[in-house]
Amino acid sequence: MSFKIIDGKEIADSLRGELAKKADQYSKKYGKKPTLAVVKIGDNPATKIYVNMKEKACNDNGIEFIGHYHEKISEEELIELIENLNNDEKVNAILVQLPLPEDIDDNEIIEKINPEKDVDGFTYYNVGSMYTGTERLLPCTPLGVIRMLERSGIEIEGKHAVIIGRSNIVGKPLAALFLKRHATVTVCHSRTKNLKEHTRNADILCAATGVPKMVKASMVKKGAVVIDIGISRVDGKVVGDVDFDNVKEKASYITPVPGGVGPMTITMVIHNTLQAALSQKGEYL
Ligand code: NDP
Repeated sequence: MSFKIIDGKEIADSLRGELAKKADQYSKKYGKKPTLAVVKIGDNPATKIYVNMKEKACNDNGIEFIGHYHEKISEEELIELIENLNNDEKVNAILVQLPLPEDIDDNEIIEKINPEKDVDGFTYYNVGSMYTGTERLLPCTPLGVIRMLERSGIEIEGKHAVIIGRSNIVGKPLAALFLKRHATVTVCHSRTKNLKEHTRNADILCAATGVPKMVKASMVKKGAVVIDIGISRVDGKVVGDVDFDNVKEKASYITPVPGGVGPMTITMVIHNTLQAALSQKGEYL
């Protein structure tokens, strides 16, 4: 069957161009750029790569990026830093790069962020809003997946979306976004029995497990849309959750790794920073 590769980088570039124009209009109108403060604690190399990518994307697209980097910090000091950022009028959006070091409770820290500046959409207020159907600031990866499907002209309403993975940052919020858009949703996880029976029913199959190439061709219905969110390193190479070379033959659309969902996630950081800045002025993106 002929398949189409969804080029996440191309879609992300086109969205970034549109967002950069809007960021520029905001800067002209309000005399300052929409501003994102990013807090990074510790020296995890993967965390550093993600933060650097976000910094570059912001700098290239009209968003001011302020980094607050600390090798070590106590929970009290970190809370004080976040409170200062909450009160800083220049800062429109705050991102605390997870995971935090083990001695600091991720949830406790996230909850200190003013929900209006919560660029990742992780505070209980934004999560609760999302589940009750009022979408405010939404988690970047699930939002990136939805935007990617929309831009590719793939209809969601009435489709059966099957998600493998139920984390708070990817699987669960993605399920909520699909439901809001009138898909029928199945969420699978490591305790799901007969995983294949579920995945083979998917019109849209999303994998977010972190298990390299776990989605095999036999798990995919002919003509399904396959979205690979996973990122793993195997022998120095970045690979996804989907056995791309074999699965592509059965899919109608498929995302590659790298170059699929990853660039969309970074783009949604820009999107959400701009959305936060505008809504703080009573405007909408
Ligand atoms: P988590 O480890 O928090 O969650 C993984 C989920 O996958 C869990 O729900 C787990 O089930 C489920 N799972 C694990 N193994 C299996 C299996 N064999 N069969 C079925 N389900 C399984 O990871 P995240 O959600 O944070 O991230 C998932 C992947 O997405 C990672 O590779 C991560 O790097 C990547 N990622 C990519 C992003 C991007 O921009 N492209 C952004 C964020 C993450 P259970 O709950 O039962 O343990």
